[in-house]
Amino acid sequence: MKQPLRAIPAVGKILDALGETELPRPAVVAVVRRKMASLRSAKEIPGFDDVLTAVRSELANLWCSRIRQVINGTGIIIHTNLGRAPLSPEVVETLCSVGANYNNLEYDVSSGERGARAAYLEHNLALLCGAEAATVVNNCAAALVLILKHFTSEGRLEVVISRSELIQIGGGFRIPEILEASGARLREVGTTNKTSLADYAKAVTKQTAMILKVHHSNFFMGGFVDAPPTEELASLARKKRIPFVEDLGSGAVVATDEIAKVEHEPTPAEILKRGVDLVCFSGDKLLGGPQAGIIAGKARLVGRLKREPFFRALRCDKLILSALQTTVDLYLAQSDMEPQEKTGPTRRAVMPALAMLEVPQGELRARAEKIVGGLSGLPLKASIGTGSGEIGGGTLPRSKVPSVVVELVPTTSALSELAARLRQGETPVIGYISGNRFKLDLRTIFPRQDAEVIRAIRAAFG
Ligand SMILES: *Cc1c(COP(=O)(O)O)cnc(C)c1O
Repeated sequence: MKQPLRAIPAVGKILDALGETELPRPAVVAVVRRKMASLRSAKEIPGFDDVLTAVRSELANLWCSRIRQVINGTGIIIHTNLGRAPLSPEVVETLCSVGANYNNLEYDVSSGERGARAAYLEHNLALLCGAEAATVVNNCAAALVLILKHFTSEGRLEVVISRSELIQIGGGFRIPEILEASGARLREVGTTNKTSLADYAKAVTKQTAMILKVHHSNFFMGGFVDAPPTEELASLARKKRIPFVEDLGSGAVVATDEIAKVEHEPTPAEILKRGVDLVCFSGDKLLGGPQAGIIAGKARLVGRLKREPFFRALRCDKLILSALQTTVDLYLAQSDMEPQEKTGPTRRAVMPALAMLEVPQGELRARAEKIVGGLSGLPLKASIGTGSGEIGGGTLPRSKVPSVVVELVPTTSALSELAARLRQGETPVIGYISGNRFKLDLRTIFPRQDAEVIRAIRAAFG
């Protein structure tokens, strides 16, 4: 005998039963309507309470997914999933003031007339990069697309690049695909492990638009490998009268190896000094600023890029430009050397992401002890261990960052359940499970967040 179909609850009835939620009403109504529509097309209709529970859980997931602060206990400093570099307090102050008020984005207060957008930023950015000129677009991928689009043209579509540099970065950014999408033609030279100057020289023809170098970023090669020095490629490009461009990816404007025991990330200044015409790099990787794609190099070429109609589609807004402006000025203010010569050291990192690298283990351990001390009475074993963090963001792949971790083993629940509860708390706390423990790496947690970490762990058991 056929089961009689239960009636689908009315949308209004579900909404009444839900009562007040934190989500805006239209979002709640949309979720409920979608749920009812999916029940209508299903064969079996659950009871009212089950429908309500299912809707509540969907609403909770939706609410959880909004962008907000999280506590990064992963030990990965530039974590792309967690928004890459945290901004410095001075940058946040700039954002508040520029965002909440009118500003002189394209207004020249000296003359009272229309002004150039981001002229001050471009001026100081060029100084910081030891470049003749610099400009900014949405991100490094956009910077590369702009460069490729502009410097290729009918009959000159070929971009010469070594086979060792046809890389993929994070979520689907692949050099060959970016080239294709930009209308350029890939002219790969050399082999995976070895490329010589002669390989490049043979490949450059009348159809060549430019020579491109791409920083390996997230991987490294060793053993029987070779590539020509940048200076020799630069002189080849000069002789052939074609631009020589390098995608640095992260790019750091201070010597990372002077801040901590990590690899040296090439700086724009040192790369440009070797004869590269244009470099591009991200604003929110090791620079520690907002998402942006910085282009620096020869004034003539930067000027051409800025006049390219496509540039308009990639330009940044007042928030990004002002945030980057303060970021750049913080670097310049702390340097008492001529910025052009400043491929070298800083005494103390000004950006939060780089400052994290500098914190001594002892300081982290003292904080870990306080946190563990704050967890008494909970059904868990809390201890202190050593961790090994990473720079992340596809940079410095060989560098491990020694750290201190708080290790938690709940006595009555599973590790994965603790991890989930911490993720879904008021302020999500993101850690990792390893060696049968749930771990929070203190290097990427700000000291001001320690009390919140204790609160969150207590709440997870509450
Ligand atoms: C990260 C990276 C990019 C992409 O930078 P976005 O700013 O995320 O667009 C491009 N090239 C290289 C070599 C990178 O490392």
